[in-house]
Amino acid sequence: MHVIETVTGDGLPITQLDLGWQTTANCVGIDPDIFFPERGASTREAKALCASCKARAACLEYALEKGEKFGIWGGTSERERRRLRRIRAAERRAREIARRDCLAV
Ligand code: SF4
Repeated sequence: MHVIETVTGDGLPITQLDLGWQTTANCVGIDPDIFFPERGASTREAKALCASCKARAACLEYALEKGEKFGIWGGTSERERRRLRRIRAAERRAREIARRDCLAV
């Protein structure tokens, strides 16, 4: 995920997502319906475009960060992103437990 840190006029920091990766996306100019197929319809065409997309990693991180529930993002379906979120959450919990165990020694 690309994040831009900027400071407002009153000196308060704000964080914005850098969406520059979208300029190199394979899906620019492509019918968005391909990436939001009807339930049960094929995702093959969208995933094929994603497979060679230079923005794939950033796109996937964006979708995970924003909790995108619909469509193909970064070559993943909703179900695949849910699975990734569960795996990452489990990894975070494991790291936190390991960190606490380390501090307790
Ligand atoms: S990975 Fe797929 S959805 Fe994401 S920007 Fe690339 S082509 Fe578009």
